[in-house]
Amino acid sequence: MKKLLRKIFLADLLEGLWVTFRNQDPKYIVTEQYPFARPKVGERYRGAPRLNTNPENGETLCISCDLCALACPENLIVVGWERNAQTKRKELVNFTYDTSRCMFCGLCEDACPVDCLELTQDFELANYSRDGAIWDRQMLEEGPKPARYKF
Ligand code: SF4
Ligand code: SF4
Repeated sequence: MKKLLRKIFLADLLEGLWVTFRNQDPKYIVTEQYPFARPKVGERYRGAPRLNTNPENGETLCISCDLCALACPENLIVVGWERNAQTKRKELVNFTYDTSRCMFCGLCEDACPVDCLELTQDFELANYSRDGAIWDRQMLEEGPKPARYKF
């Protein structure tokens, strides 16, 4: 009899709905609300590459030594430089970094003697094309500019 009454009054359905509505309270939401809420990545996370510049004058810290390119097992870094005829020093002309082939091992970062090349905690590297995954000097110095969303 009890079973029949439960069926007639849809008790199981109502119980299920109650569980659903009870968990609508924001304090029970465990799903990350990305991109509105950005996740915190681990302290040692290695993400988007960056070429650091001198904060005082904006000049690159890169001395075009090519050590990062030599250290990279994927050969994905190309350092373009030319020698200044007056100072006789190498000057950085271009720098390309193919993020689509990078495995974020950090060997290039470790090889850099002047802390210019850095793997940052930026994690948004998606692109619409393969060419877009190749970052040039300007992109590497400015860093990624992901869209920021608000609730
Ligand atoms: S993180 Fe590793 S694979 Fe990526 S560029 Fe640096 S050395 Fe190469
Ligand atoms: S190792 Fe550092 S200084 Fe040398 S070319 Fe690479 S980024 Fe520039």
